Amino acid sequence: MSVALLCAAVAAAGNVLGALTVVWRATWNRAALESMLAVAAGFMVSVAIVELIPESIARSGVSAGSWILGGYLVVHLTQHTFAGHFHFGEERHRVSPSVSTAALAGLMVHTFVDGVAIASGYEVSTALGTLVFGAILLHKVPEGLAIASMFVAAGAGRRAALVAAAALGVATILGVALTGWIDPLARYGLPLAAGVSLYVGASNLVPELHRLPRWRTAAAFFGGCGLFLLARAVVFQ
Ligand SMILES: [Zn+2]
Ligand SMILES: [Zn+2]
Repeated sequence: MSVALLCAAVAAAGNVLGALTVVWRATWNRAALESMLAVAAGFMVSVAIVELIPESIARSGVSAGSWILGGYLVVHLTQHTFAGHFHFGEERHRVSPSVSTAALAGLMVHTFVDGVAIASGYEVSTALGTLVFGAILLHKVPEGLAIASMFVAAGAGRRAALVAAAALGVATILGVALTGWIDPLARYGLPLAAGVSLYVGASNLVPELHRLPRWRTAAAFFGGCGLFLLARAVVFQ
């Protein structure tokens, strides 16, 4: 449990780091950020399909499928139905403060489940917890950067942009802390996390890759899948 909380704290720091690059106007190497998105996409899709989905079905039976679907749908509902606009990467569109606030609320549901995923992974085994943590850590910097740049695009100050990213991190820590206390999360946290990871990897991140340079992006995306398989071989040996 304490290891999971520590992981959540590190992940939360990733959110803030992403926001700091916006606030400091760091001259982000665009190619490096795009490659990071692609690696995270490959890693998340892999951990969802190779570990979280089969492990969920092994533990909860075929009823896990409904929870996986539920996790998948909840991200679409909160990030794309209630919130009018959200995508990973730096926000370059003009958005209104209500749009950025709605995006933050929606993204906090997802980052809460990031925490549920870490806790549920460690509940199964240290090896699985480590893999899930890796998948979450890889997309935390882009996540913090996305929300902070969106707040800036909505005319918010630097402090508000940082607070928004910190709120994402706090939601992840709460996700870990509350998983053991809320019965459905303790029981179905793993399939829920599987659906959310699948959505974030395949439906949030992968579509971002379609507009990027083809071969470099492909190398990073397949590299992310390869990195997952390598990490898996190491932690399960
Ligand atoms: Zn946009
Ligand atoms: Zn996340």
